[in-house]
Amino acid sequence: MLPSAAFLIEGGCDCRAVRYRMESAPLYVHCCHCRWCQRESGSAFALNALIEADRVANLGEPPEQVNTPSQSGAGQLIARCPKCKVAVWSHYAGAGPVVKFVRVGTLDNPDLLPPDIHIFTASKQPWVVLPAGVPSVPEYYERERYWPQESLERRQAVLPLIEAYQAAKAGGR
Ligand SMILES: [Zn+2]
Ligand SMILES: [Zn+2]
Repeated sequence: MLPSAAFLIEGGCDCRAVRYRMESAPLYVHCCHCRWCQRESGSAFALNALIEADRVANLGEPPEQVNTPSQSGAGQLIARCPKCKVAVWSHYAGAGPVVKFVRVGTLDNPDLLPPDIHIFTASKQPWVVLPAGVPSVPEYYERERYWPQESLERRQAVLPLIEAYQAAKAGGR
């Protein structure tokens, strides 16, 4: 992973109405081989860069948020261009609006963010050969075991926001 200071990269949708800038390196990059990601991408896996939402600046039109079912049952919000509908990131139930799962393929230079881990490899398509030297797990994983210390500290810094979101959600039921 690149050092945060060296990191300032942009991305967006096909029609360029939605443009965004990541203002630091992500916390961690998932390559998810679950069937849901396969269906949503129409491909073999999804490549998601997890980053604090306030480190992603909107440079164009705000994406529309589409409520979409998820494997957990809790649903996810997929942020899509209001015009061409390309998905640029998701918010999952765990961290809600506090963390964006940026779709790496929408970066102008997606080569910058290879996966830090392969997850849900139990449902990996059989032709996909995982690279040696990158962790892979059959389903999900323990954050403390895999994330670099710096990322764990960054998550700790936004934890009060995540907890406030969870508390508000629980209260709204
Ligand atoms: Zn667009
Ligand atoms: Zn997935």
